[in-house]
Amino acid sequence: MTIGVWVLGDQLWVKQAALQSCLHQENVPVILIESLRHVQVRPYHRQKLVLLWSAMRHFAQELRQLKYSVTYKIAEDFETPLQEWIKENQITQLRVMTPNDLPFTQIIQSLELLCTITLIPNNHFLWSTEEFNNWASGRKRLLMEDFYREGRRRFQILMEKDKPVGGKWNLDKENRQPPKGKLNTPPTQWFESDEITLDVIAQVNSLTCPTYGEIKPFRWGINRQQALQVLDWFIQNRLPHFGPYQDAMVTGEETMWHALLSPYLNIGLLQPMEVIQAVQQAYFQQQLPLNSVEGFIRQVLGWREYMHGIYHYVDADYSNKNWFNHTQPLPDFFWTGRTEMNCLHQILTQVERTGYAHHIQRLMVLSNFALIAGLSPQSVENWFHAVFIDAYDWVMQTNVIGMGLFADGGVLASKPYAASANYINKMSDYCKSCVYNHKERVGENACPFNFFYWDFLDRHRQQLESQGRMSFILKNLDKMSPEELQSIRQQAQDWHVQS
Ligand code: FAD
Ligand code: SF4
Repeated sequence: MTIGVWVLGDQLWVKQAALQSCLHQENVPVILIESLRHVQVRPYHRQKLVLLWSAMRHFAQELRQLKYSVTYKIAEDFETPLQEWIKENQITQLRVMTPNDLPFTQIIQSLELLCTITLIPNNHFLWSTEEFNNWASGRKRLLMEDFYREGRRRFQILMEKDKPVGGKWNLDKENRQPPKGKLNTPPTQWFESDEITLDVIAQVNSLTCPTYGEIKPFRWGINRQQALQVLDWFIQNRLPHFGPYQDAMVTGEETMWHALLSPYLNIGLLQPMEVIQAVQQAYFQQQLPLNSVEGFIRQVLGWREYMHGIYHYVDADYSNKNWFNHTQPLPDFFWTGRTEMNCLHQILTQVERTGYAHHIQRLMVLSNFALIAGLSPQSVENWFHAVFIDAYDWVMQTNVIGMGLFADGGVLASKPYAASANYINKMSDYCKSCVYNHKERVGENACPFNFFYWDFLDRHRQQLESQGRMSFILKNLDKMSPEELQSIRQQAQDWHVQS
């Protein structure tokens, strides 16, 4: 029997399960494929294509040095190069690590090949699907906080025996400071492109299918060594101050104290446990502030694992959920950045330039707007999936459909993340340079985040009343005069007609 391994673009780790399963065999045939048809599903950010293809080509080199017999193909589809390679190498069993993304598993299952296909359970996450399902089944609420604490105990992270280090599980309250005064943000760890990356940039530039975003300057890391450099850089320069301004947004500050690790974690160049352990080690050795360290570890050990677990736990039709029945189309400015709403303009043009925005920009500006303006969840999900450097199906469904848009009716979040301009004004400096007035709810200068916010609460009052945590906010609707409410409804409707 000859076993061959197909390594997918987000499985770039020498210890990934399919490669590990062949350690007994010498010169294992391995194939990596850039499919030109696969990238036509949506207009992906050009830098995402460069990152993926360059990282795949670098990984192929790494495997060759480890004596794997590597074939690298650029082809229209996956099936043709696979068939040729299977024939040439007389492969009788093709092994693939189970994809993180369910649509890709379907693609693999639909292939008609000359050999058997064996899916090897994925080892890129700390919790396997079975382990997560065991944790989740039988619970009334799938609370992230419960899951996170279980993870801390299970992996003994920031623990003193069975108690959390410092006595508290969660120090989030210390991590919501608004950006006041001059913030001395650290520079970002970026990289120059090497020959391989320059070749890929030329290839992406020559694609004829629709793509999105600026391709240059391309500054992302493209191999494990560079990803480790980013991790080290983050720990030395950003982690000590990661906590306090985690939710703050400042014009011209694209990354603040954020880690920029998701692009690498999501393609296997970094593994979650090595990131968590490196951060934990720095905490003990350098006596870093616990709010920053715990705040970061919660993201990777908690949120990331939880989102992945939920994705595989929920029904297959989760991606079609639309609890509020929102049907407005995605406005064009999501693609062009051309809007007078300064917060959206700043973030959208940043995404166009880099493929990146940090969590609060994604949650409290981009998806918040989509939620309160009633945009179709599926078109919003498609947009996020296309434009972000770190977007994959597993991370999209739960973050966009669930957390951002509450289209799952509360499987994941305990209330919708809906906010008016008040929040954006408090947590950013965007409103200072905006044509709209963040205090006004109706009228020519009123900020659209305001009339949409109140219109959203009013439109969905009945549904929202069933969400316990919303009752306090809904009481504020009652304080509004019927005339003002009517003007708000009208202005929200008119906005859609005009845009
Ligand atoms: P930091 O905040 O500096 O680091 C935290 C790390 O924790 C991240 O690198 C990431 O790996 C992990 N993490 C934290 N929260 C989440 C989460 N909710 N889901 C998954 N991982 C998490 N994350 C993606 O990886 N890809 C996406 O396409 C993506 N889209 C998002 C869309 C929306 C609407 C929202 C609300 C969140 C999205 N996230 C996504 C989660 C989160 O915003 C990003 O992981 C984070 O901004 C990545 O930047 P960073 O590495 O600098 O983050
Ligand atoms: Fe955004 Fe409104 Fe503030 Fe303008 S006023 S930046 S649109 S929140």
